[in-house]
Amino acid sequence: MTPTADALPSGRWAWADVDLDAIAHNVGVLRAAAAPSALWAVVKADAYGHGAVSVARAVLDAGAAGLCVALVQEAAELRDALIDAPVLVLSEQPPAAAADAVRLGLISTVYSVGQLDALAAAGAHRHRVQVKVNTGMNRVGCAPGEALALAQEIERRDSVVLDGVFTHLAVADEPADPYSAQQLDLFDEVLGTIRAAGIDPGRVHAANSAGALAHPRARHDLVRAGIALYGIQPGRGVEHLCHDLRPALSLHACVSHVKQVHAGDRISYGLRHAFTVDTTVATVPVGYADGVPRRLFETHGHALVRGRRCPIVGVVTMDQLMLDVGDLDIEVGEPVVLIGADGTERIRAEDWAERLGTIGYEIVCGLSKRVSRHHRAERRTVS
Ligand SMILES: *Cc1c(COP(=O)(O)O)cnc(C)c1O
Repeated sequence: MTPTADALPSGRWAWADVDLDAIAHNVGVLRAAAAPSALWAVVKADAYGHGAVSVARAVLDAGAAGLCVALVQEAAELRDALIDAPVLVLSEQPPAAAADAVRLGLISTVYSVGQLDALAAAGAHRHRVQVKVNTGMNRVGCAPGEALALAQEIERRDSVVLDGVFTHLAVADEPADPYSAQQLDLFDEVLGTIRAAGIDPGRVHAANSAGALAHPRARHDLVRAGIALYGIQPGRGVEHLCHDLRPALSLHACVSHVKQVHAGDRISYGLRHAFTVDTTVATVPVGYADGVPRRLFETHGHALVRGRRCPIVGVVTMDQLMLDVGDLDIEVGEPVVLIGADGTERIRAEDWAERLGTIGYEIVCGLSKRVSRHHRAERRTVS
C-alpha cells in the first residue's frame, strides 16, 4: 500500500496533515463554552506548529473575532497574507519593532511608559494598546497598583488609545487550585479602580484555553484560546472538559527500508536495544531534527503501522527511527502514523508529552520546519 500522490507533495516520506475542519469544529466548541464572550484565537509560534496563515483564515471563517501572536514578525506574516482581522501582540516588544506594529495596525500590549514612548517615537497616532496586568503569574505585566496610572497616561496621549486590559492565569489548568480565584479577584479590583477613574478599560480578558473551559469568571469580554483550538488538552486537570475537541495535527511517514533481524542483534546508536526474537524492522525517515524526540525510544514510544502499535527500537536518530513491526508483512512505502489515528488506535501529542514529562504544547511546537504541513478541509487540499 502506497500513499496517494497528494499525500507526498513535499517530495519527502514524512509530512504533517492539519485538519482545518477539526480546527473549525474546535472554534465552535470553545465559542459555545465561552459564550457570550468572544473567541480570540492564539496563533503564535506558527499556530503551535499548525501553520499560522491557514489556521488564521480557518478560525476567522469559523467565527473567531480576533487573533493573538507573540511577536510582531508573526503578525507581519498574517498581514502579508492579507489577513486584516484585529491582531493583539501579547507582550511588550523591542522598541525597534514599534514602527512595524504601528504600520501593520496591530494592537500592542504595554506595561511600561517606555513602551508608550517607543510607540510615540515610531509615529503612532491613536494606535491601539492593551494594558497587561500581572496578577500573580509573575512573567510580564505591570503591578496591579500601577495599572491605573498607566491607563491614565494612555488617556493623556494622542499617540495611543486604550483598547483593553488583561491578565494571565498561572494555574488555570488546575481548577481546584484557589490561586486562579485570587488572581481574578485582584484583576477585578484593578478594573474597578480604572472604571472608578472614569476610564473605559475596553476589552477585558483573562482566560487562556483552560480558563475559557474551566473558569467562568475568567471569560470577561473574550477568551484567548490557543492549545484547545488545536484539539490538544491544556492539562490533565481539565481533560474532562476537552472530550469534544478534535486533534487537528497528524504526523505521517512512509517506511523507507525493511529488514529482518535476528535474536541477539542490536540496533541504532549505542546499540541500546537488543532483539530477543527474530523480527522485522522498518526504518521510518523522521528523527529528532523533525521534532520526534530522541528520548521516545527509552520512554517506550510507538508508531502505528496498519493500525497496530509498533515499538520504536533503538534511539531515534536525527533523520530516521526504527520500528519493530513484528510479523507484519510490509514493504518500502508502507504508511506510518506517528501522531494521529490508524484503525482503532490513536497516538496523541499528549501521549508523547506524558512519556517525555512535558506538555502537548511542546510537542506540536517542536515539529520542525523540515516537516511540511498540509492543510486539509472537506477532502480538499487548501495549501
Ligand atoms: C500563549 C498564551 C495564551 C494561549 O494559551 P493556551 O493555553 O494555549 O490557550 C493566552 N494568553 C497568553 C498571554 C499567552 O501567552
